[in-house]
Amino acid sequence: MTELVRLTGVSKRYETTGPPALDEVSVEVGTGAAVAVMGPSGSGKSTLLNLVGGLDRPTSGTVEVAGEDLGRLSEKRLAVFRRTHVGIVFQFFHLLDDLTVRDNVLLPAQLAGVPPRTARARATELMDALGLGEKANAYPARLSGGQRQRVAIARALVNRPALLLADEPTGAVDARTGAQVTEILRELNRDGQTLLLVTHDRAMADRCAGRVVELSDGRVVASTPAGVSS
Ligand code: ADP
Repeated sequence: MTELVRLTGVSKRYETTGPPALDEVSVEVGTGAAVAVMGPSGSGKSTLLNLVGGLDRPTSGTVEVAGEDLGRLSEKRLAVFRRTHVGIVFQFFHLLDDLTVRDNVLLPAQLAGVPPRTARARATELMDALGLGEKANAYPARLSGGQRQRVAIARALVNRPALLLADEPTGAVDARTGAQVTEILRELNRDGQTLLLVTHDRAMADRCAGRVVELSDGRVVASTPAGVSS
Protein backbone atom coordinates (compact mmCIF):
# COMPACT_ATOMS: atom_id res chain seq x y z
CA MET A 1 0.00 0.00 0.00
CA THR A 2 1.37 3.42 -0.88
CA GLU A 3 1.18 6.20 1.65
CA LEU A 4 -1.26 8.96 0.84
CA VAL A 5 -0.37 10.94 3.97
CA ARG A 6 3.06 11.04 5.58
CA LEU A 7 3.92 13.28 8.52
CA THR A 8 7.59 13.15 9.43
CA GLY A 9 8.84 14.71 12.67
CA VAL A 10 6.11 17.33 12.61
CA SER A 11 6.04 19.97 15.31
CA LYS A 12 3.62 22.85 15.57
CA ARG A 13 3.98 25.83 17.87
CA TYR A 14 1.32 28.49 18.07
CA GLU A 15 3.32 30.41 20.67
CA THR A 16 7.05 30.86 21.18
CA THR A 17 6.95 29.79 24.83
CA GLY A 18 5.44 26.71 26.43
CA PRO A 19 5.07 23.23 25.02
CA PRO A 20 4.28 22.78 21.31
CA ALA A 21 0.78 21.70 20.20
CA LEU A 22 2.47 18.89 18.23
CA ASP A 23 5.88 17.56 19.16
CA GLU A 24 7.82 15.50 16.58
CA VAL A 25 4.82 13.60 15.30
CA SER A 26 5.23 10.97 12.58
CA VAL A 27 2.09 9.36 11.18
CA GLU A 28 1.31 7.63 7.90
CA VAL A 29 -2.00 6.89 6.24
CA GLY A 30 -1.95 4.45 3.35
CA THR A 31 -4.08 4.91 0.25
CA GLY A 32 -7.44 3.34 1.03
CA ALA A 33 -6.77 3.16 4.77
CA ALA A 34 -8.87 4.60 7.59
CA VAL A 35 -7.01 6.01 10.58
CA ALA A 36 -8.63 7.44 13.70
CA VAL A 37 -6.82 9.96 15.89
CA MET A 38 -7.85 9.91 19.52
CA GLY A 39 -6.66 11.62 22.69
CA PRO A 40 -7.78 14.03 25.37
CA SER A 41 -8.90 17.57 24.66
CA GLY A 42 -5.88 19.74 23.88
CA SER A 43 -3.67 16.81 22.83
CA GLY A 44 -3.21 18.18 19.30
CA LYS A 45 -5.79 16.25 17.26
CA SER A 46 -7.32 19.23 15.45
CA THR A 47 -3.89 20.72 14.88
CA LEU A 48 -2.81 17.50 13.16
CA LEU A 49 -5.94 17.45 10.99
CA ASN A 50 -5.50 21.10 10.04
CA LEU A 51 -1.92 20.47 8.93
CA VAL A 52 -2.92 17.48 6.80
CA GLY A 53 -5.77 19.50 5.29
CA GLY A 54 -3.42 22.32 4.32
CA LEU A 55 -5.29 24.75 6.58
CA ASP A 56 -2.13 25.50 8.53
CA ARG A 57 1.61 24.87 8.21
CA PRO A 58 3.99 23.00 10.51
CA THR A 59 6.68 24.83 12.47
CA SER A 60 9.09 22.01 11.57
CA GLY A 61 8.97 18.61 9.94
CA THR A 62 7.24 17.67 6.71
CA VAL A 63 3.60 17.04 5.85
CA GLU A 64 3.25 15.15 2.58
CA VAL A 65 -0.13 14.42 1.05
CA ALA A 66 -0.53 12.74 -2.33
CA GLY A 67 3.17 13.29 -2.96
CA GLU A 68 3.06 17.04 -2.28
CA ASP A 69 5.16 18.56 0.49
CA LEU A 70 2.55 21.00 1.79
CA GLY A 71 5.11 23.16 3.57
CA ARG A 72 6.69 23.98 0.20
CA LEU A 73 3.52 25.03 -1.57
CA SER A 74 2.76 28.71 -2.09
CA GLU A 75 -0.51 29.98 -0.61
CA LYS A 76 -2.06 29.84 -4.06
CA ARG A 77 -1.02 26.25 -4.71
CA LEU A 78 -2.05 25.27 -1.19
CA ALA A 79 -5.54 26.65 -1.88
CA VAL A 80 -5.72 24.58 -5.07
CA PHE A 81 -4.48 21.54 -3.14
CA ARG A 82 -7.25 21.99 -0.55
CA ARG A 83 -9.94 22.26 -3.18
CA THR A 84 -8.83 19.25 -5.18
CA HIS A 85 -7.24 16.75 -2.79
CA VAL A 86 -9.09 16.95 0.51
CA GLY A 87 -12.64 17.10 1.76
CA ILE A 88 -13.30 18.08 5.36
CA VAL A 89 -16.26 17.28 7.59
CA PHE A 90 -16.53 19.31 10.79
CA GLN A 91 -18.29 18.70 14.10
CA PHE A 92 -20.70 21.61 13.61
CA PHE A 93 -21.28 21.00 9.88
CA HIS A 94 -20.31 24.54 8.73
CA LEU A 95 -23.05 24.66 6.12
CA LEU A 96 -24.06 27.96 4.54
CA ASP A 97 -27.57 28.72 5.82
CA ASP A 98 -28.51 30.92 2.83
CA LEU A 99 -27.85 28.15 0.32
CA THR A 100 -30.01 25.13 -0.38
CA VAL A 101 -28.71 21.63 0.23
CA ARG A 102 -27.86 21.28 -3.48
CA ASP A 103 -26.00 24.60 -3.57
CA ASN A 104 -24.05 23.76 -0.42
CA VAL A 105 -22.95 20.49 -2.02
CA LEU A 106 -22.12 22.22 -5.31
CA LEU A 107 -20.07 25.04 -3.83
CA PRO A 108 -16.62 23.35 -3.75
CA ALA A 109 -17.15 22.15 -7.33
CA GLN A 110 -17.98 25.67 -8.46
CA LEU A 111 -14.93 27.05 -6.66
CA ALA A 112 -12.80 24.42 -8.42
CA GLY A 113 -14.21 25.39 -11.81
CA VAL A 114 -15.90 22.06 -12.50
CA PRO A 115 -18.28 22.40 -15.49
CA PRO A 116 -21.82 23.02 -14.10
CA ARG A 117 -23.41 19.99 -15.71
CA THR A 118 -20.73 17.65 -14.38
CA ALA A 119 -20.96 19.22 -10.93
CA ARG A 120 -24.75 18.92 -10.80
CA ALA A 121 -24.61 15.27 -11.83
CA ARG A 122 -22.04 14.52 -9.14
CA ALA A 123 -24.04 16.45 -6.49
CA THR A 124 -27.22 14.57 -7.41
CA GLU A 125 -25.41 11.22 -7.24
CA LEU A 126 -24.07 12.05 -3.77
CA MET A 127 -27.36 13.42 -2.44
CA ASP A 128 -29.14 10.29 -3.63
CA ALA A 129 -26.50 8.00 -2.15
CA LEU A 130 -26.75 9.80 1.20
CA GLY A 131 -30.55 9.81 1.27
CA LEU A 132 -30.85 13.56 0.67
CA GLY A 133 -32.53 13.45 -2.75
CA GLU A 134 -35.80 14.87 -1.43
CA LYS A 135 -34.01 17.60 0.50
CA ALA A 136 -32.08 19.06 -2.43
CA ASN A 137 -34.04 22.31 -2.40
CA ALA A 138 -34.35 22.60 1.38
CA TYR A 139 -32.32 24.99 3.50
CA PRO A 140 -30.07 23.67 6.28
CA ALA A 141 -32.21 25.24 9.02
CA ARG A 142 -35.00 22.81 8.12
CA LEU A 143 -32.80 19.73 8.48
CA SER A 144 -32.01 17.47 11.42
CA GLY A 145 -28.45 17.21 12.73
CA GLY A 146 -27.96 13.91 10.93
CA GLN A 147 -29.21 15.34 7.64
CA ARG A 148 -26.91 18.34 8.03
CA GLN A 149 -23.92 16.11 8.60
CA ARG A 150 -24.86 14.09 5.51
CA VAL A 151 -24.95 17.32 3.48
CA ALA A 152 -21.52 18.17 4.86
CA ILE A 153 -20.25 14.72 3.84
CA ALA A 154 -21.69 15.14 0.33
CA ARG A 155 -20.07 18.57 0.06
CA ALA A 156 -16.73 17.16 1.22
CA LEU A 157 -16.88 14.46 -1.47
CA VAL A 158 -18.12 16.50 -4.43
CA ASN A 159 -14.65 17.00 -5.90
CA ARG A 160 -13.72 13.32 -5.39
CA PRO A 161 -10.90 14.11 -2.92
CA ALA A 162 -8.21 11.50 -2.40
CA LEU A 163 -8.51 12.15 1.32
CA LEU A 164 -11.55 12.67 3.51
CA LEU A 165 -10.83 14.36 6.84
CA ALA A 166 -13.39 14.36 9.62
CA ASP A 167 -13.07 16.32 12.87
CA GLU A 168 -15.43 14.90 15.52
CA PRO A 169 -18.16 14.21 12.93
CA THR A 170 -20.43 12.62 15.55
CA GLY A 171 -19.65 15.17 18.25
CA ALA A 172 -22.78 17.29 17.75
CA VAL A 173 -25.43 14.66 16.99
CA ASP A 174 -27.35 12.17 19.11
CA ALA A 175 -26.18 8.58 19.53
CA ARG A 176 -28.48 7.09 16.90
CA THR A 177 -27.50 9.69 14.33
CA GLY A 178 -23.88 9.24 15.29
CA ALA A 179 -24.20 5.55 14.51
CA GLN A 180 -25.59 6.43 11.07
CA VAL A 181 -22.74 8.85 10.34
CA THR A 182 -20.32 6.14 11.49
CA GLU A 183 -21.85 3.65 9.04
CA ILE A 184 -21.64 6.14 6.17
CA LEU A 185 -17.95 6.74 6.79
CA ARG A 186 -17.33 3.01 7.14
CA GLU A 187 -19.01 2.33 3.81
CA LEU A 188 -17.12 5.12 2.08
CA ASN A 189 -13.87 3.60 3.30
CA ARG A 190 -14.96 0.15 2.17
CA ASP A 191 -15.50 1.64 -1.27
CA GLY A 192 -11.91 2.85 -1.25
CA GLN A 193 -12.10 6.33 0.28
CA THR A 194 -9.03 7.11 2.39
CA LEU A 195 -10.13 8.48 5.74
CA LEU A 196 -8.43 10.38 8.56
CA LEU A 197 -10.77 10.86 11.43
CA VAL A 198 -10.52 12.68 14.76
CA THR A 199 -12.93 11.34 17.33
CA HIS A 200 -13.60 10.95 21.05
CA ASP A 201 -15.87 8.06 20.19
CA ARG A 202 -14.05 4.75 20.67
CA ALA A 203 -16.94 2.80 19.14
CA MET A 204 -16.73 4.93 16.03
CA ALA A 205 -12.96 4.51 15.81
CA ASP A 206 -13.29 0.74 16.16
CA ARG A 207 -16.03 0.53 13.57
CA CYS A 208 -14.63 2.92 10.95
CA ALA A 209 -10.87 2.76 11.30
CA GLY A 210 -8.25 0.11 10.75
CA ARG A 211 -5.81 1.84 13.05
CA VAL A 212 -6.04 4.19 16.01
CA VAL A 213 -3.32 6.75 16.68
CA GLU A 214 -3.41 8.14 20.20
CA LEU A 215 -2.05 11.56 21.02
CA SER A 216 -1.14 12.93 24.41
CA ASP A 217 0.38 16.38 24.92
CA GLY A 218 1.19 16.63 21.24
CA ARG A 219 2.97 13.29 20.98
CA VAL A 220 1.97 9.96 19.51
CA VAL A 221 1.74 7.59 22.48
CA ALA A 222 0.20 4.60 20.70
CA SER A 223 -0.61 3.39 17.21
CA THR A 224 -2.65 0.20 17.37
CA PRO A 225 -5.06 -1.77 15.21
CA ALA A 226 -8.63 -0.57 15.86
CA GLY A 227 -10.53 -2.75 18.30
CA VAL A 228 -7.51 -3.15 20.55
CA SER A 229 -8.01 -0.84 23.51
CA SER A 230 -4.83 0.42 25.10
P1 ADP B 1 -7.42 18.83 20.39
O1 ADP B 1 -8.00 18.89 19.01
O2 ADP B 1 -6.83 17.51 20.74
O3 ADP B 1 -8.39 19.29 21.45
P2 ADP B 1 -5.84 21.11 19.56
O4 ADP B 1 -5.06 20.69 18.38
O5 ADP B 1 -7.07 21.92 19.34
O6 ADP B 1 -6.19 19.83 20.46
O7 ADP B 1 -4.91 21.94 20.53
C1 ADP B 1 -3.60 21.52 20.93
C2 ADP B 1 -2.94 22.63 21.75
O8 ADP B 1 -2.70 23.76 20.92
C3 ADP B 1 -3.80 23.13 22.89
O9 ADP B 1 -2.96 23.45 23.97
C4 ADP B 1 -4.46 24.36 22.32
O10 ADP B 1 -4.76 25.28 23.35
C5 ADP B 1 -3.38 24.91 21.42
N1 ADP B 1 -3.95 25.63 20.24
C6 ADP B 1 -4.75 25.09 19.30
N2 ADP B 1 -5.06 26.00 18.35
C7 ADP B 1 -4.43 27.16 18.72
C8 ADP B 1 -4.34 28.47 18.16
N3 ADP B 1 -4.94 28.78 17.01
N4 ADP B 1 -3.59 29.37 18.82
C9 ADP B 1 -2.95 29.08 19.98
N5 ADP B 1 -2.99 27.85 20.55
C10 ADP B 1 -3.71 26.91 19.95
